[in-house]
Amino acid sequence: MTDLTGKTVLIVGGSRGIGAAAARRFAEAGAAVAVAARSAEACESVADAIGSAGGRSLAVTCDITKYREVEALIARAVDAFGGIDILVNNAGAIEPIGLLTKADPEDWARSIAINLTGAFNVLRAAVPAMMERPRPVVINVSSGAASTPREGWSAYCAGKAGLAMLTRSLALETEGSGLVVFGFRPGIVDTDMQVAIRASGMNPVSRIPRRDLLPVDDPARFLVWLAGGEADDLAGQEVDIRAPGLRERAGLDPRP
Ligand code: NAP
Repeated sequence: MTDLTGKTVLIVGGSRGIGAAAARRFAEAGAAVAVAARSAEACESVADAIGSAGGRSLAVTCDITKYREVEALIARAVDAFGGIDILVNNAGAIEPIGLLTKADPEDWARSIAINLTGAFNVLRAAVPAMMERPRPVVINVSSGAASTPREGWSAYCAGKAGLAMLTRSLALETEGSGLVVFGFRPGIVDTDMQVAIRASGMNPVSRIPRRDLLPVDDPARFLVWLAGGEADDLAGQEVDIRAPGLRERAGLDPRP
C-alpha cells in the first residue's frame, strides 16, 4: 500500500464524488488532507470524518472560478500544513448538457470557467507554492471527453480538452524542476455527475446502467497510487484508468 505519511494533499472538488472518496483514501495512506469546494457543509463533513478516524484534515470553501478565493485557499492550506505536496485538481461540472446550436452562451461560458479557467486558477495559485516541496505532484482530473466528442457535451469536452493541454503545457514548462504532472481519466464513475448525465437522455453515456459504472473508490485508490511515486514513468501525459495493465499496477482488481 502507498505510504504518504508526512505528505500533504489538497483535493479541489473534494466535497463529494471522486474527490471525497480520494480524500478518504489519501488520509488512510497517511497524508494530511485539505478538502475544498463551494459547499462548506459537505467539505466539513468529509474533513470531520477524516479527523474522527485520527487523520489531519482541513475544509476550505472555495469557488475556483474566483481567483481571489483560490489564492486564499492555497494560503490557508500552506498555513495549516506548512506546504502542499500533492494537488488533486478535480473540480468539474458536466452542465450545460444540450446541443451546441441551442446552448445558452452564459451557461456555456460558465462551464469553461469551471472546467478550464478554474482548473488553471488552481494551478496558477498552487504550483509556485508547491515548488518549495521536494517532490511535488499535480494531478489534473481529465476525462475521455478530452479527446472524444459527445453529443450535447460541447462545453465539457472543450473544457477537458483544454485542461489536457494545460497538463502538457505545465509539464513542458516545469521539465527538470522535479514537479510531477499527470492528467487522469477516471473512467465512468458512479457520482452525481452521472446522475445528471442519465437524466439528460443525451448520447450513449446517459444509457449506461448505473450498475455498470465504476465505484468512486477505484479512481480514489488510483489517485493515491499515481501520487505515490510508482507511476512516474507515466508523468506528463493523460493516464486512463482503463488503459491495459494499469488497474493491476495500481493494485485494483484487473476487471472492474
Ligand atoms: P461530482 O460528484 O459532480 O463532483 C464535482 C466536484 O467538483 C464537487 O466536489 C463540486 O463541489 C466541485 N466543484 C464544481 N464546481 C466547482 C467550483 N466552481 N469551485 C469549486 N469546486 C467545484 O463529480 P465527479 O464525478 O466526482 O467528478 C470529479 C471529476 O472527475 C470532475 O473533474 C469530472 O469532470 C471528472 N470525471 C468524472 C467522470 C464520472 O464518470 N463521474 C468521468 C470522467 C471525468 P461543489 O458543488 O460543492 O462546489
